[in-house]
Amino acid sequence: MHCPFCSAPDTRVIDSRLTNDGDQVRRRRECVSCNERFTTYESAELNMPRIVKQDGSRVPFKSEKLCAGVMRALEKRPVSTEQVDAAINSITHQLLAAGEREVSSSMIGNLVMKELLALDQVAYIRFASVYLDFSDINAFRDAIEKIEKKKAAKKTS
Ligand SMILES: [Zn+2]
Repeated sequence: MHCPFCSAPDTRVIDSRLTNDGDQVRRRRECVSCNERFTTYESAELNMPRIVKQDGSRVPFKSEKLCAGVMRALEKRPVSTEQVDAAINSITHQLLAAGEREVSSSMIGNLVMKELLALDQVAYIRFASVYLDFSDINAFRDAIEKIEKKKAAKKTS
């Protein structure tokens, strides 16, 4: 692990513990060169499928990226951090449970949209507008219709 302050190649682990949910190891590290301290979170991402992008390239799954996309959509929305974490965990678990070695980026996009639809409609539309690109009005209409259907389902249940 390179030091993020001075890029020295050697850092020392001074503390190591499991996070509350037990999915990650939190490590306190100290750089042997500049003595700055920092924290790393390590999780078992080896089991996560690789992402096949639309151009056919493969990239490793990065939960930070998933988080960033979801957080961007939820910016200034009344959704708690716990709800966001739960949504991210749900998406991650579904990917793990699928047991595929590779999944398409569009499959992940759909999982995110499903979670956002349940959390916050504005965030859902925001994410969909970026992700689906809404290049034609039909895609936008479909997205809105999904919200309408969800509302109707809530009313009848
Ligand atoms: Zn350093």
